[in-house]
Amino acid sequence: MDNDASNSGLNRRDMLRLLGAGAVAALLPSLLPGTPEARGAEIGREGGFERAKGQGIIFVVGDGMPTGVVRAMHEIRTGVFGRKDSNLYARLRDPKSSLGYMATASLSSIVTDSAPASAAWSTGVHTVNHTLAALPDGRPLKTIFELLKPRGVACGLVTTTRVTHATPAAWVSHQTDRDLEDAIAEEMLAFKPDVLLGGGRKHFDAAKRKDGKDLLAAFASAGYDVANDRDALLAAPASAKPLVGLFSSSHVAYYVDRLNDSNLSKQPSLPEMTTAALRRLSKNPGGFLLQVEAGRIDHASHSNDAWSAIMDTVELDDTLGVIDAYLKVNPRTLVIFTSDHGNSGWGVNGTGPEYNDATSALRSYRAGKASFEATIKRMKGKSVGEIQTLMAEMSGYPISPADAELVAQAMQPGFKSFPGDFVYQPDATMGRILADSQYPDKHGAPTVRRGNVGFTSCNHTAEDQLLLVYGHKAKEQGLDRLVANTDLFGVMCRAFGVHHANPTMTLAEARPFLLAKAVDTESLRRHIA
Ligand SMILES: [Zn+2]
Repeated sequence: MDNDASNSGLNRRDMLRLLGAGAVAALLPSLLPGTPEARGAEIGREGGFERAKGQGIIFVVGDGMPTGVVRAMHEIRTGVFGRKDSNLYARLRDPKSSLGYMATASLSSIVTDSAPASAAWSTGVHTVNHTLAALPDGRPLKTIFELLKPRGVACGLVTTTRVTHATPAAWVSHQTDRDLEDAIAEEMLAFKPDVLLGGGRKHFDAAKRKDGKDLLAAFASAGYDVANDRDALLAAPASAKPLVGLFSSSHVAYYVDRLNDSNLSKQPSLPEMTTAALRRLSKNPGGFLLQVEAGRIDHASHSNDAWSAIMDTVELDDTLGVIDAYLKVNPRTLVIFTSDHGNSGWGVNGTGPEYNDATSALRSYRAGKASFEATIKRMKGKSVGEIQTLMAEMSGYPISPADAELVAQAMQPGFKSFPGDFVYQPDATMGRILADSQYPDKHGAPTVRRGNVGFTSCNHTAEDQLLLVYGHKAKEQGLDRLVANTDLFGVMCRAFGVHHANPTMTLAEARPFLLAKAVDTESLRRHIA
């Protein structure tokens, strides 16, 4: 496997291919050699990793990562960015890897949300949607972190979402309502993870919290190193002290936006955060458990934003490169790579005669220069004509006045273009325009299809997920088959010699608690906002 060529972030050649040479200096000052981005990539490539003092497990999550986006990432990485291989596919192909399939249902539904999905991993128990490490009646469940920390195992969380969002939260928090993120932040402080890196500063900030508590100051007085931006994270020495870094008020920006908007250069990449986390956690003699989450593949999929989903998956693949560098120095490390659930029916559709336009249609998304999230922010309060110009600029393709009118309509509060629950608008409309529209090519005819990623909804989906396990004793974990998401709890317990069984409830016992917590549209929107 050729890691050295592929484990850094996008290199300059990638960016030239992606954007055209002229655009690079203007749009991507931080990616030029000798700059902080190059330095960050260097840390990943060289590792900067020392021999760990104990064993480690790295639990890697592509949140809401449909298998369609996994394949699309590999195609873009190899077909557009010119890599020989993606880090993920190299591991999937490696006969030393264990490859399985993981069921994702929660106690209450075949379609889970991230809260019970992550709690299944952290507690070994199925609970109902919207609930973290607790039974439906509120009884707390012991998490793997809570079992390991008293035994001297260091615990780390790294994410591109708010650190109080469901996937990291379910390893620490016992809320039955995942939206209570101010309270979850207090549980984070009470638990004191050894590393806590991601977004969500507003839930720790005295000026933003309703109760005025300054949780960041509390972390500092508890002996934490506090990194407030990317430079501070990269400059921080790899000491054994605990580390907290919250780099955005809400979620860390999409990768495509961090690449294109120099205002976001204070936010670190997922590979950089992972590097910083591993350098610290590996100093603990009792070993460590680190959860690393690319949390916004899910959000981009909710938004039907194909390019943002692909690029956040590219960033996750870069993160696997960092982990490869770590494993070279520390082979006694087990890596578990999976996703908590599918999302949006994300699919690369066959197009053209005999489907032969499908590859070029997928590659055409590379023209995107911003996420829908960033584009919509700029569209607010704008005329239909301005919306048309903005969407063309940001997606890299012209759109018709009629399409721009559809987007403008979809920006009206309460707009619903489909029966059911398409709550993410105008995102879904934009995704459909990019997938469906046909325009004259530069010679006038025939028409060319712009893109081919289609979506069945803006919601999570039920399909079972890829479960890739590699590293130390990967083949001995019994994960090379269809397993339940709850089975991963036992794997982590066994690796550290822990025995624990949490209490369970049946769906019949849970039912009275379901209606009491029906989730509204606003709550769903908070998921990605
Ligand atoms: Zn989601």
